[in-house]
Amino acid sequence: MEVNFLARSRTTLVVQHTIRLTDHLVRVHLGGPGFDAFQPNDFTDAYVKLAFPGADGEVMRTYTVRAVDPAAREIVIDFVYHGDEGVAGPWAVNAEPGDTIDVQGPGGAYAPRADADWHLLAGDESALPAIAAACAALPSDAVGHVVIEIDGPADKLAFPYPEGIELTWVYRGDAQPGEKLAAAVRAQPWLDGQVQVFIHGEAQAVMHDLRPYIRKERGISAEWASSISGYWRRGRTEEGFRRWKSELAETERATPAAV
Ligand SMILES: Cc1cc2nc3c(=O)[nH]c(=O)nc-3n(C[C@H](O)[C@H](O)[C@H](O)COP(=O)(O)OP(=O)(O)OC[C@H]3O[C@@H](n4cnc5c(N)ncnc54)[C@H](O)[C@@H]3O)c2cc1C
Repeated sequence: MEVNFLARSRTTLVVQHTIRLTDHLVRVHLGGPGFDAFQPNDFTDAYVKLAFPGADGEVMRTYTVRAVDPAAREIVIDFVYHGDEGVAGPWAVNAEPGDTIDVQGPGGAYAPRADADWHLLAGDESALPAIAAACAALPSDAVGHVVIEIDGPADKLAFPYPEGIELTWVYRGDAQPGEKLAAAVRAQPWLDGQVQVFIHGEAQAVMHDLRPYIRKERGISAEWASSISGYWRRGRTEEGFRRWKSELAETERATPAAV
């Protein structure tokens, strides 16, 4: 069940250091005195809202907590650097030790279930932190498929996963975001038994291609496929994406059979 992060605390964290992980991923370590007010949860897709100052007030952006390190008193967030557009991506790439950021949360909704027979996790760079965190939480005998769409080979990122998991990297190249991911997920062999699904990335591809594939074509119930959604929407800022999501939810309420 989703945690209501509005009920959770808000704190100010300080950039400790940053690491350029790949061409398009920047890791930011956040700590400082405000760390003590941060209360981690057990979801592998734990996320926070980051508050950036904007011309008309605050601008909020949503990010996965890739890791919490109580010994170092830090949380780690991996930001996709998707160009000079936007607020959070450019902030991360220019962040310097001593910079501060307001963090609200965490919330969360998913963790791998021990009673699943196999796992299917898929997404793009924005979901890579949550997928890597999920893989770290899988039991060592877990089986399944992980499919990740990235720009190209320079965006491959090593992370640990169980031996029984098949990892497929998909290179986007000139295709639309999510197009090749959707094709690659459809191409994965479907295993026997109960699957648990986690799919996030560009919203159009996830909501209009992969979600119907999993829920309708494969007949997976919401209980086992509750974590399928867009993390961002092509051509829209996060504010525009939020509007797109409420319009979609409204349409689905009006025509439930279309879901
Ligand atoms: C629960 C959740 C967890 C998330 N976790 C992460 C995470 O760990 N790391 C992460 O990087 N993102 C994550 N995201 C996605 C992130 O919130 C969005 O990508 C957000 O739009 C980025 O804000 P921005 O200010 O950089 O760009 P915005 O101002 O929102 O958008 C500016 C432009 O950039 C485009 N854009 C936005 N994101 C991307 C992208 N990933 N690739 C290409 N173009 C893009 C938009 O379509 C728009 O045209 C998560 C989203 C959710 C809902």
